[in-house]
Amino acid sequence: MRHEEILHRCFRCGYCKLPGDYSDINCPAYLRYRFESFSPGGRMWLIRAWLDGAVEADERLQEVLFSCATCNNCVEHCIFPKFKDQILQAFIAAKEKMVEQGSLPPPVRDYLTTLYKHGNPYKMPQKKRGDWAADLGVEKYANQAYLFYIGDVGSFDERGVQIARSAAKLLGRLGASFGILAAREGPDGNEARALGETELFRHLAEQNIKVFKELGVEKMITLSPHGYNAFKNDYPELGGRFQVFHYTHLLISLLTGTGISEQPDSGPSRRVTYHDPCYLGRHNQDYETVRQILGLLPGIELVEMGRCKADALCCGGGGGNFFTDLVCSGPETSARVRVREAADTGAEILVTACPMCTVMLEDAVKSQNLEDRIQVRELSELVTEAVFNTGRYHGHI
Ligand code: SF4
Ligand code: SF4
Repeated sequence: MRHEEILHRCFRCGYCKLPGDYSDINCPAYLRYRFESFSPGGRMWLIRAWLDGAVEADERLQEVLFSCATCNNCVEHCIFPKFKDQILQAFIAAKEKMVEQGSLPPPVRDYLTTLYKHGNPYKMPQKKRGDWAADLGVEKYANQAYLFYIGDVGSFDERGVQIARSAAKLLGRLGASFGILAAREGPDGNEARALGETELFRHLAEQNIKVFKELGVEKMITLSPHGYNAFKNDYPELGGRFQVFHYTHLLISLLTGTGISEQPDSGPSRRVTYHDPCYLGRHNQDYETVRQILGLLPGIELVEMGRCKADALCCGGGGGNFFTDLVCSGPETSARVRVREAADTGAEILVTACPMCTVMLEDAVKSQNLEDRIQVRELSELVTEAVFNTGRYHGHI
């Protein structure tokens, strides 16, 4: 198994399941199950026992391995610099071995099979991939400045479609030059890779790279931090070298210089707290772009949660869990803990910049009966409200 050599180096000291100030549990899998084997150190111990033949790849071991939300908290907070960068890669390598053996929890098997057969996890026909934009007048990618890659959630999830439409409309109103692939778009494969289905990931990536090259794509923006991560960090070694941005990176340059932040204050501010998506934050070290955008918006006051930036608690949707639900049920799941934390700041809006996080957190707000206290917004929705819909901005864009 790749990275096998690091497993014995772990001391199981446990720092990796906490945030930097050790204030609470920050590993979604451990938070949900509360068995040491679900913590990063515990899962290393168990993987080692499995490789040594001491335990079988039974249902419990499968559940332990595939419940990792790939949030990167353990990589960020492990206190041993010599091997910390390889921790998550070792967990993914163990899943890869499980995939090779066919030892998969049923929801993981279903997700991967559906992705392979249908080209998306929603069992939707490929020709419907661009339907979310049908009435928006969004152009197909030809020679615009950016390819706007939407991904499975933005293309097919009911809430994800609203977010894709909101982001496309906002970028269009701000004058961005972009086109979409519609029916030529394929899944980015980020979740397949995180689940250890390396061959499927490679297959999906090679298909996308072929299309991108055929169309002469040089620069792309993504709706989701998950696609951004795959294109930026995993595609280059397969020959896919493009200039990759999350759409917020383009958004901030479009907003800067519009003068929106210089509007005279015309009413009470709305308090907003920001949930850092793991694949924008810890995986790609971008903690500031969204905060800078929020700082430009009229009538918006940012209040931080105790756990933010590198210490943010993951919503639990990463590593395929958005689709497989292995860490998503019960009152102590990370999405529910996270929205309680957000509501405790006194913010009326919880904003994030990822369609998966938005769905996870919105569901959690409902489960926690917090709808009267806090609402979830994806960033493009909040920007649209603050700039175009509140009447507080009086300039021309
Ligand atoms: S991964 Fe690092 S911080 Fe976590 S238990 Fe092992 S040695 Fe300790
Ligand atoms: S990546 Fe996140 S969910 Fe997975 S073991 Fe590390 S802290 Fe836990």
